[in-house]
Parts: sequence; structure tokens; C-alpha cells
Amino acid sequence: MTDLYDRHRAVMPEWLNLYYQQPIELTHGEGRYVWGADGRKYLDFFGGILTTMTAHALPEVTKAVSEQAGRIIHSSTLYLNRPMVELAERVAALSGIPDARVFFTTSGTEANDAALLLATAHRRANQIVAMRNSYHGRSFTTVGITGNQSWSPTSLSPLQTLYVHGGVRNRGPYASLSDAEFTAACVADLRDMLGQARGEVAALIAEPIQGVGGFTSPPDGLYAAFREVLAEHGILWISDEVQTGWGRTGEHFWGWQAHARSGPPDMLTFAKGIGNGMSIGGVVARAEVMNSLDSRSISTFGGSPVTMAAGLANLTYLLEHDLQGNARRVGGLLIERLRAICAQLPGVREVRGRGLMIGIELVEPGTGEPDRRAVAAVLEAAREGGLLIGLGGAHSTSVLRLTPPLSLTVAEAEEGAAILEQALRSV
Ligand code: PLP
Repeated sequence: MTDLYDRHRAVMPEWLNLYYQQPIELTHGEGRYVWGADGRKYLDFFGGILTTMTAHALPEVTKAVSEQAGRIIHSSTLYLNRPMVELAERVAALSGIPDARVFFTTSGTEANDAALLLATAHRRANQIVAMRNSYHGRSFTTVGITGNQSWSPTSLSPLQTLYVHGGVRNRGPYASLSDAEFTAACVADLRDMLGQARGEVAALIAEPIQGVGGFTSPPDGLYAAFREVLAEHGILWISDEVQTGWGRTGEHFWGWQAHARSGPPDMLTFAKGIGNGMSIGGVVARAEVMNSLDSRSISTFGGSPVTMAAGLANLTYLLEHDLQGNARRVGGLLIERLRAICAQLPGVREVRGRGLMIGIELVEPGTGEPDRRAVAAVLEAAREGGLLIGLGGAHSTSVLRLTPPLSLTVAEAEEGAAILEQALRSV
């Protein structure tokens, strides 16, 4: 293990974010559990990184992958590929976007890159509105618009970005506002910003619930209100559903549906769980936006038959087993249980989230400041107890993120909550 860590450090970039003081080498998984090379079993409350959407080693996905790999692994977008077309048809139908077209990529970063390219081409403008504290990926373009400074390692950007309030509401001058007041303040901020913008703005891109930012949600309807302002300027709304898609929030299939008053976004981007760990990302857009590029293009690996077969099998399983409903039920129980546990802990500022997308924000009891040290200690203690979780947070890593596979059982939710309780109490 240590040997592998040394070898990792010798050949991998230093800026790769590796969890744990003694990093874990994962060897296999089953259901909601994974095993380390030292034989230890862990309950996976991070679901890969929200990537293992249904379950580890789901037989239906494994079978689809191996059968497809036995036929043809790669085809590229130069040729027809049945699983790709079938998955595109299903995603287009599920998206809620009229006259939808789907472009597959291999990651969320690339999906957002493509969405920004399309938006700027369609609008002939290179200004973007993004949310403060947002995260949209690690390419030059997506890093450039990412609002969360901890995840934006360069101040250079090919796009001009304007940052609007709305993603985080539990801190600063907005903290005491009601939902309606908060929405009105954010809309005023957007209006003011657009009024002062020099030149045209192509799109607003936003995560319905900020993921890396620590699972902060705006009031339902904020993006519908934003949309009315955007429509006055012809600006497109891109909903980054990389974390919120596929029913994870329990109540809705997509995060944008919590804001649905004025209908679907112009574009949505997706990734993470659709392939149950296989690399699939993509963009859905109305045909008129999707067809904005005026030169030919290909994707060598986007839409690759093996990943598409995984996506089809995974999506079928998700829908047939109503995992969105399971996320709502089991996630609801889990969040209640965690709230009960955390009510007695002065270092917990808030337990929040929807479905199986739950955040626990830790603060220093005296000052109320984000408690990075406690968060790091809970991460380690939970691992000791046999539980893997994720981290995030606005401005600083102060939020524990819990995103288990959507097939989580009540017993597993109880098991995870008990380990977490011990870890929180030990810190
Ligand atoms: N958008 C959001 C909201 C994300 O959370 C992430 C990754 O965490 C990305 C985009 C980038 O996706 P990927 O890591 O697949 O490139």
C-alpha cells in the first residue's frame, strides 16, 4: 500500500486530490460496499464520486459491458452505433427539453465545455454568467468560470465571467432573508449585473444544488425567476446536472425540475452516475442550439459502444427499480436520523440536502467559522469505522458530503449513520 503511494507520488501530479493520510487502494466492490487492498470492507457513502449511481458491480451493467466488449469496443462518432443512438433517444425523452439533441462526451468537464462552446456559438458572445461558489470542471474553460476559488487554480480564462448570487444562502448578508426575499435579491443582482455588462452575454450556467460547493440549494423557483430576466436578453440557461441528475435528489429526476415554473432549461449537461462508473457525460440542447456549430466535428471516445451499453443497462435498472423513489424514502430517513444525531453536537452548523445528496456543515463552536480541521478528522475517523464519505464546501472544505448509491437500503443507512455518529463524537 505504502509502496503504491510512493509510486503514485513519483508519477502523478501533486495537485491531484487524494483522500486520506494513508490513501486507500480499492480492489473491488459489491452493492453499496467496496474493499481495500488490505482486505478492509467499507460502506461507500460517496458512491465513487456520485458515479456509482445504482450499485457497485451491478450484474446487469457488468453483463451489458462484457457482452458489448465482446462484440465491438470502439466505433467513434464516425459510424452508427446502436447503443449510442438508443441512449440518446432515452436521454432526450427524459430531458424535458423540446426537440432535444444529445451530444455524448466522456466527462462532466467536457460536457460543460461543449455546452459553453455551443452557447457562445449560438449567441455569438463570449460572456457567461456563473454562480458564486460554483464548480463546473477542470478544463481551462470550465475552471475559468468556476466560482469556487478553492477549485479554480488559475485566474486566466478564455471566457469573460460574471458571478451572480444565489448558490449559497446561509452565510453573509443573505443569511437572514426569507425565500422570497432571497430570490428577489438574487434577481436584482442578476438584473443589475446584466444592466452593466459590456456586450452580449451567451448563457447562465448553474448547478441546481451546488455539489463541490457543499450541497447548498437556492429556494425552489430561483432559476425560473432568473430565466424571466434571461429571456429579456435572449440569454440561454444551462443547467449543470452533473451531480443532481438521474433522480439523486429524490423529488425530481433533474435538479432543474425544482424550478420548473417556466419549463426546462435551454441546455442541460450530465455525467457522473449515468454509466454507473463508466465514463459518460453529455449535453442536451434544443436542435437550434445544438446545431449552432458551423464546422464538422467528431468525438473519438464520446458515445463509445461499451460505455453506452453500460448507460442503457444502468438507466433501465434505475427506472425499473424506481431508485429515485428509493433515494427519496431512504434519503429522507437518513437525513432525519442525521439531524437527530447532530442536534446535540455544537460543531454541526447544518444538516441539509435532498434525497441521497446530503451535506453536514461543520463549524468551530466558538467562532462559527468553517472547521476544516474537524472535517478532515471526521473523514479519517469515518474511514476507521468503515465508512467512506466525501468533502466539499463554499470557500473552504467544511462540509461532509454523503451520496451513496441510490439503491441504499434502510439498514445500510442506519449502519452509515451510526459510524458517522461515532466519528463526529470522536472529533
Ligand atoms: N459539474 C459539476 C457540477 C461537478 O460536480 C463536476 C465534478 O465533480 C463536474 C462538472 C466535472 O465533471 P468531471 O469530473 O466528470 O469532469
